Amino acid sequence: MNKILAHTYYRGRVAMHAQLRALGVGADHEVAIQAFTCLAVPEGVMATGAKPVYVDITSDGFNMDPESLRKRISSRTRAIVVQHTFGIPAPMNEILDIAQEHGLPVIEDCCHSLSGAYKGKTLGSMGVSAFYSFEWGKPIVAGIGGAAVANNDRLNSALLAEYSSYRNPGSIRQLKIELQYMAFSVLYRPAWFWPVRSAFQLLARLGAAEGNFNAIDTIEDAAPDFSMKMAPRSVARLTRSISGLDAVTKHSNSISKAYRERIKPNAVIHPGVDDDDSVVFARYPLRVNNKELVLKLAKNANIELAEWYSTPIHPVPLEVGQAVFYEVGSCPNAERRAAETVSLPTHPRVSLAYVQKVASFFDNIESTGLR
Ligand SMILES: *Cc1c(COP(=O)(O)O)cnc(C)c1O
Repeated sequence: MNKILAHTYYRGRVAMHAQLRALGVGADHEVAIQAFTCLAVPEGVMATGAKPVYVDITSDGFNMDPESLRKRISSRTRAIVVQHTFGIPAPMNEILDIAQEHGLPVIEDCCHSLSGAYKGKTLGSMGVSAFYSFEWGKPIVAGIGGAAVANNDRLNSALLAEYSSYRNPGSIRQLKIELQYMAFSVLYRPAWFWPVRSAFQLLARLGAAEGNFNAIDTIEDAAPDFSMKMAPRSVARLTRSISGLDAVTKHSNSISKAYRERIKPNAVIHPGVDDDDSVVFARYPLRVNNKELVLKLAKNANIELAEWYSTPIHPVPLEVGQAVFYEVGSCPNAERRAAETVSLPTHPRVSLAYVQKVASFFDNIESTGLR
């Protein structure tokens, strides 16, 4: 885990961008990424000058479908970014085979997967490199920040060589991050999720908080963000928190197990997990029939239920997906999953009593005949 502290960046997407650049990715190139992701990923690809090409997810899961990947690789493809969505390992053997056939590097997006393993191999250790994020909503929250880990010496040296050109965020930005982190620590608990979320979105719109996503029409102006390091105070928090990762992992495992046992599968579909894998859920995803209504009911009942990813490239509305090179209909599984997925928290502030409250909530939904 100390490797994570070696190269820290302003955000996860900045770490990914640094890795793509170190691999020589730039204009006229393509990078294969999965649909059912967030805007941060194509934004980081586009900041290199390359074009994101979307790979569909599997018909019943949340991760890249190897067959779709095979079809979307072209002579311009220079890298594949593989996401372990919600902490569920992607089918790495198949993906690595395809990558090897084409001589392409694989970068693992471990923003949801600080721990966990695929067939005994630690997530983040199988590609040429991996990147992490430490903002609100991730397994460890340090404020705003990201990290890059290279799994080979050449890439590591290339990252190191560039690293000296990165600068700290400006003092006002650092102050904003500090205030935001303080607010997060005090306010964030499952029962306050909805009001805190509304306040955060309002502050981000007003420019008083660092939002998670740049407005689509400002992506082209986001370049300065991609030359910044993680703020020193966030690095210090990350250093302290990461030593407690085992406890975070254990807690997530016990909460996820309780969700699986207590939420009846009548109103929802639980996530599929391979027996060979060790899955540590960053959030626990459920598939529901009437997502809009379920979210509304959850809000009324003060149940923390997140909507992401609400579109194939969250939060970009489907109709304007072209701004990030997404063609409507090109990834039908991702579109379907976006329309039916909600997720529950697994972080240390979630108690078993809270899980019971969530289970009762879904029992009630079932009795209202949703499914
Ligand atoms: C959060 C996240 C990112 C980007 O992280 P930032 O720190 O916001 O740049 C990338 N990929 C996934 C899957 C994420 O959840």
